[in-house]
Amino acid sequence: METLRSEALSDVAYLTAAVLFILSLRGLSSQETARRGNLYGIIGMAIAIVATLTTTIGGASLDPHPILLAAIGGGAVLGALMAARVGMTQMPELVALLHSFVGVAAVLVGYSLELHGDGPGDLKTRIEIYIDVLIGALTFTGSILAFLKLRGSVSGRPTLLPMRHWFNLAMLVGSVGLGVLYAREGELWALAGGTAIACVLGVHLVAAIGGADMPVVVSMLNSYSGWTASAAGFMLDNDLLIVTGALVGSSGAILSYIMCRAMNRSIWNVIFGGFGAEPAKPAAGAPAAPQGEVADIDHETLATKLLEAKSVVIVPGYGMAVARAQHAVRELTEILRGHDKLVRFAIHPVAGRLPGHMNVLLAEANVPYDIVLEMDEINADLPSTDVVIVIGANDIVNPAAEDDPTSPIAGMPVLQVWKSKLVVVNKRSRATGYAGIDNPLFYKPVTKMLFGDARQAIEKVVTVLRTR
Ligand code: NDP
Repeated sequence: METLRSEALSDVAYLTAAVLFILSLRGLSSQETARRGNLYGIIGMAIAIVATLTTTIGGASLDPHPILLAAIGGGAVLGALMAARVGMTQMPELVALLHSFVGVAAVLVGYSLELHGDGPGDLKTRIEIYIDVLIGALTFTGSILAFLKLRGSVSGRPTLLPMRHWFNLAMLVGSVGLGVLYAREGELWALAGGTAIACVLGVHLVAAIGGADMPVVVSMLNSYSGWTASAAGFMLDNDLLIVTGALVGSSGAILSYIMCRAMNRSIWNVIFGGFGAEPAKPAAGAPAAPQGEVADIDHETLATKLLEAKSVVIVPGYGMAVARAQHAVRELTEILRGHDKLVRFAIHPVAGRLPGHMNVLLAEANVPYDIVLEMDEINADLPSTDVVIVIGANDIVNPAAEDDPTSPIAGMPVLQVWKSKLVVVNKRSRATGYAGIDNPLFYKPVTKMLFGDARQAIEKVVTVLRTR
């Protein structure tokens, strides 16, 4: 009776945690609700941990071992310290490192079940162990290499071995063969062999991917880590782990797809490191030389143009993050709105260096959410916009993506700022952006360049506007 009551309680706790995780993901999909989404996730995880530690399984109380409690406490302190110290630009490498933890945990749990389980497992259990260990090992080594690449400890250039696709295929066939052997005969060496192959495959897949595609890879590894957790859920008969793993796995896969579409890359090309397409483009090739004359604008003239305008669109890019100009940009926005101007922000899906980079910076500076629009929401309004200010952005406003089929970014959707009445591009020089290509926007008659560091430039415009 006691056991039944305890099981029912744990089911309710797991269901509540699963619902909270779904609400959390829903909340994280928009900036207004992201904070609440995070809170749901934290509460859901707290419920899941407490329920797991106190559950009575089959009458045997799962007594929280002191080592387990010490591990949870130590992990919580380490996690909090890492989160507090990490800079915005180091976020992708931290995430990659965290994925590697999920991978190694899955491998260890799988082996512990194999070595210390209750007697020889049945076919189903062994299949579950094998799948869990395989995805876990691949996620572990792939994430470690991704972490090292993002950190700059290992070159970001793709390592493309000759016949690499055959090598991948051979490893796939080998691991399936060993899996069959392990599942049928329970041979431990077959499990170890499969693990070794998965470790090599993880390194090989990530090594073949160039720096430009690394954020997509991190998001793919996030997806793999979810599927690993889900496989562990089957192995441990834990419904919550299955559901949570599937949520993480599918949301990571969807995010990877969205990022690939925004960067005009094929997701298969990213996963298999150049399968059936050109190898991934390195982060920075030889920068292209500027191909035209540009016209400057000074802070005074820009301030005048802004005061004459009815509608203003601000396009932030990586340079705004580098210059930490978001607070100056918010001040500019407040002043213009105080003059009854319609001010909006246009956010490209891959502006900056990680998904949602610009949204986070603008939210940190308290820019109202309702004036921050996605590319698809604002592109149609740009032809009727009086002034567009591009702040430290380059590739995401490059018309070559639409006009030049030979451009490396051909086909990538971009913000069509050149269709507005005046475009002011703020950057420090005529240097190229991430893709390393020249930007014909700078030479268009509609464009004026405001050279200088983004923060200083915008602060100067704000100072001028305050005197008007
Ligand atoms: P870009 O890298 O294209 O351009 C940024 C521009 O900012 C540079 O041209 C630079 O010019 C300028 N800049 C740098 N520092 C400053 C500063 N202190 N003040 C003013 N300007 C500065 O960035 P975008 O945001 O336009 O595009 C993002 C690029 O990154 C795309 O190619 C995208 O595919 C890629 N990418 C995005 C990812 C994501 O998930 N968001 C992930 C991986 C890649 P200058 O040196 O002359 O100042």
